[in-house]
Amino acid sequence: MKKPTLTILLANPRGFCAGVDRAIEIVERALDKFGPPVYVRHEIVHNRYVVEGLEAKGAVFVEDLAEVPEGVPVIFSAHGVPKTVPAEAEARRLFYLDATCPLVSKVHREAERHARAGRQIILIGHAGHPEVIGTMGQTPKGSIMLVQSVAEANALEVEDPERLAFITQTTLSVDDTAAVVDVLKRRFPNIHGPKKEDICYATTNRQQAVKAIASQCDVMLVVGAPNSSNSQRLVEVARKLGCHKAMLVKRAADIDWAALDGVLRLGVTAGASAPEVLVEEVIAACRERYDVIMEEITVTSEDVQFKLPRGLSAVPAEA
Ligand code: SF4
Repeated sequence: MKKPTLTILLANPRGFCAGVDRAIEIVERALDKFGPPVYVRHEIVHNRYVVEGLEAKGAVFVEDLAEVPEGVPVIFSAHGVPKTVPAEAEARRLFYLDATCPLVSKVHREAERHARAGRQIILIGHAGHPEVIGTMGQTPKGSIMLVQSVAEANALEVEDPERLAFITQTTLSVDDTAAVVDVLKRRFPNIHGPKKEDICYATTNRQQAVKAIASQCDVMLVVGAPNSSNSQRLVEVARKLGCHKAMLVKRAADIDWAALDGVLRLGVTAGASAPEVLVEEVIAACRERYDVIMEEITVTSEDVQFKLPRGLSAVPAEA
């Protein structure tokens, strides 16, 4: 029987960013250098496939430093950690490596700078996300207020509008954040902050690529994990731009094929923590059921690379 035709619009950039690449490489090189087990506090990046792959090589993932035994290295995830975590590691004389993305560390430094200047800090972000917990833990307790929406920005009460600053989570919706920043700047004209926000290049570019294809797609599949902030934002961006059937899939097995019934144009993208192999798996599953025509839509190219921590860069990645 002849397969129906399906055009796949493949967003580019998609998938792994420089911060995720670096974090995974830190775990792999630590395993090569020190041998298993290497402990990792929290999922190194928010993707089960990646985590399970590293577990198979000898990484052990824990949520609490208390679970790390003496004498083994521990790595902090790409999302960043509150200052209490390295302090606790030092107190216990644990050897640790910090895989915090340098673009998250940059926000940590902004927070410290504002705190030193005596400013009350507003963090735009999502409660409970590890990056938000890490950023709020860079300055003394109570010095950062979390704002999650335009409504919260409108209702916010501050101590002194002249001594105020804002910072943001790196993986937010560019448009939603701009709306929150607009409210803050209107209400507190002398607020300090970055030019626009602290959303990273990878989040921005992946949202741009989704915007470029969303209105042409009947359905959009975003390959990513439910706890991946930037992946969730891609689903929202696609829906807002006119692709109402945008859905997150962890991998091909999650695809709701009934939802693809009669679909002619399918958008495919991936969050910054989703490996390309899972995108390939999704496309291969489509090829089994459809006569697929591929169109890749590229909005920009990326060449960002981050250095590894000292002590790891001399070891070959695949020893
Ligand atoms: S999504 Fe952005 S902030 Fe997060 S790891 Fe990637 S580059 Fe860094």
